Amino acid sequence: MTRAIAHRLDELGDAPVPRRLRVVIRDPLRAHPDAVRLYATEYLRDRGVEQPVVTVVVMSVPCPTCGSVERPGPLDPVCSSCGMPFRPIEGPAVVVGEA
Ligand SMILES: [Zn+2]
Repeated sequence: MTRAIAHRLDELGDAPVPRRLRVVIRDPLRAHPDAVRLYATEYLRDRGVEQPVVTVVVMSVPCPTCGSVERPGPLDPVCSSCGMPFRPIEGPAVVVGEA
């Protein structure tokens, strides 16, 4: 997970480091919001940002078996309605942008 978010943050390149970041978790199975917030906050602090503001948004995903829309987590990867496991979402686990 940290590699995924590091990669996304590195895509910001040499642009001035923003004080506010918005991180959208596309795949809640691969990224925990607390970990994302901690990591992104430390990333900004390491680059000299004082009092960074990190907003984390977790996308809901439909259960591939019963269609129930939920927010599973890395530690809770099964549907609460039918008990079947969620599948990983294709593409990046997180998308990072300025808030
Ligand atoms: Zn289900």
